[in-house]
Amino acid sequence: MKKIIVIPGDGIGKEITDSAVAVLKKVDEKFKIGLEFDYRDAGGASYDKYGEPLTAETLEACKAADAVLFGAVGGPKWDNIEVSKRPEKALFGLRKGLGLYGNLRPVKIYDALIDGSPLRPEIVAGSDILIVRELVGGIYFGPRCESEIVDGVERAFDTEVYSVPEIERIARLAFESARTRRYKKVTSVDKANVLASSRLWRRVVNEVAKDYDDVILEHLYIDNAAAQLTIHPTRFSILLANNGYGDILSDEAACLSSSLGLLPSISIGGITNFAESSSGSAPDIAGRGIANPIGEILSAALLLRYSLKNEDAAQAIESAVDKTLADGYRTADIYKDGLNRVNTVEMTNAIIDRI
Ligand code: NAD
Repeated sequence: MKKIIVIPGDGIGKEITDSAVAVLKKVDEKFKIGLEFDYRDAGGASYDKYGEPLTAETLEACKAADAVLFGAVGGPKWDNIEVSKRPEKALFGLRKGLGLYGNLRPVKIYDALIDGSPLRPEIVAGSDILIVRELVGGIYFGPRCESEIVDGVERAFDTEVYSVPEIERIARLAFESARTRRYKKVTSVDKANVLASSRLWRRVVNEVAKDYDDVILEHLYIDNAAAQLTIHPTRFSILLANNGYGDILSDEAACLSSSLGLLPSISIGGITNFAESSSGSAPDIAGRGIANPIGEILSAALLLRYSLKNEDAAQAIESAVDKTLADGYRTADIYKDGLNRVNTVEMTNAIIDRI
């Protein structure tokens, strides 16, 4: 048996993980994988039950599993609680606890949805980007101060810290991933004109590149990279970024595809891989049954590919999603007049029918 820990979390997390599990059950039936699901709480849901966003027991269960399928955490209900108890702490605790140093986010532009992109079709057509984001270092984990008084003035700070081994391993992941792609190119993002940590980043990426002379390497400053994503997205194949820049660029890249709810991700490199949709808990639509489940369903496909090494099952899900979109099924976030408007469960069933 292959044990999957399912963590719905908060907001739309339950709705979209229900969809992904239903799809996984369908491929399990078809490909005889032997999946077993074990549900756990994290985020606000865990705080409400146990007073902690992530319990040691949940982390241990994740470490012992074959993979984790995660929904999303957070919401206004928990915005004003003590910082150390906030739902997002569960995510950081899981990433750190599982040693997940690399986050892979494929950004694909579906032909069927090209009109829904905020960019003109001739700019966005053919974009196919894999964002490789460093996930357990940098400014989100560096020394910080929430508040201190210096000379009678209140201030706060966060610190960007990267070590050579941290940069080396994420750079290797980017170059290895580039080798599996049609366009073998890595674009590394930094702010080396201003930041010391970026200068180290660039130096180490250049060193690692020497082992991959079949892969093209370019460096872009973060401000230029953000602009290029909207002006010329097809120039990218692998976009390698630190934790903070990767966080921002991946949401920007997600918008190319018309909805945050469409994109999957998987975090790897540690004890157990961790699949989750790129979006958050979408409190504005939670509980209404209208969330787009595709990002989470495609995350389940990545889980099959990267954790369970079942490429056939992964591709069965991905081509079922392609067909469902080509057949005109649309949740509210990607709906256009004249197409078939469906809710979360109807979209899920349409995908299952095509597996
Ligand atoms: P969000 O991604 O939750 O929502 C941004 C917008 O996209 C909203 O309008 C939302 O309705 C829409 N959207 C997102 N997913 C969708 C889907 N599947 N279908 C249709 N529409 C979708 O980001 P936010 O509003 O900045 O954050 C909301 C909460 O989520 C916050 O508490 C934040 O901290 C948390 N968050 C969690 C994660 C995570 O768990 N990995 C990631 C980002 C944000």
